[in-house]
Amino acid sequence: ELKDKHVESISEELSAWAETSDMEIARLKETEKFRKEYLGNVAHELKTPIFNIQGYISTLLDGGLEDELINRKYLERTEKSIDRLINIVNDLDTISKLESDMTRLKMEPFDVVALTKEIADQLEMKAGERHIKLLVKGAEDLPSPFWVLADKHYVGQVMVNLLTNSICYGREGGQTRVRFRDMLDKILIEVEDSGVGIAKEDIPRVFERFYRTDKGRSREHGGTGLGLAIVKHIVEAHGEHITLRSEVGVGSTFSFTLKKADPNEIK
Ligand code: ADP
Repeated sequence: ELKDKHVESISEELSAWAETSDMEIARLKETEKFRKEYLGNVAHELKTPIFNIQGYISTLLDGGLEDELINRKYLERTEKSIDRLINIVNDLDTISKLESDMTRLKMEPFDVVALTKEIADQLEMKAGERHIKLLVKGAEDLPSPFWVLADKHYVGQVMVNLLTNSICYGREGGQTRVRFRDMLDKILIEVEDSGVGIAKEDIPRVFERFYRTDKGRSREHGGTGLGLAIVKHIVEAHGEHITLRSEVGVGSTFSFTLKKADPNEIK
């Protein structure tokens, strides 16, 4: 009887082990599928500009070089495609650094309103092309400046990506508002545009790499489809969350939090 018990317990252990290994295999398969899809997407994104460059150079070599107008036009197009390749490679580099442990966030106290204003100033020309106003406002009843404890470089990148999107997908002649709210130990940052909006079914997906609701529009503005994936990574690397509310034809609001800096740390 003792032997039976022993056999029983071994077989129980074995079946538990088989079950976990089944789960592990399913997980690995999922990761592998994701990796293949991801590589496929990367290859696809790189292909378009590379084929374009090849086409421009062929045209130039097939006689285009002699015509000064064609010459210039095709060289400019080549330059644009190379810019696109550089954007994609830079974004891929940022994502892979964020995903590996190579990235240590450099936490320091800084004024997030001042940083946002600086970035909005840098993007003013781009916004002007679409007659969009960028309004950066701290809540008037709160003590400014708004100091957070975060990685300034990466928070800057979040702001650049969100504001650039708000310009690209914003309504011509509209506006983007950035608001800051005091939430005890955190600061809530909201970027609100008056743009095309995002359909309900797309809302959870826009943070995925390479997901775009409108490929044409995205490519036209030099978008890589990685901007929001990077934003999400950065916010989550800070241990915080980002949410999106949106209504088609009305606009979108991206909200995320950052930890407040300890007043004693502010120099
Ligand atoms: P992209 O480089 O294409 O802009 P993102 O990752 O930044 O890539 O955004 C993914 C997709 O989400 C975009 O292609 C666009 O369809 C949608 N999107 C992002 N921001 C906005 C916005 N503010 N308003 C409407 N759609 C947006």
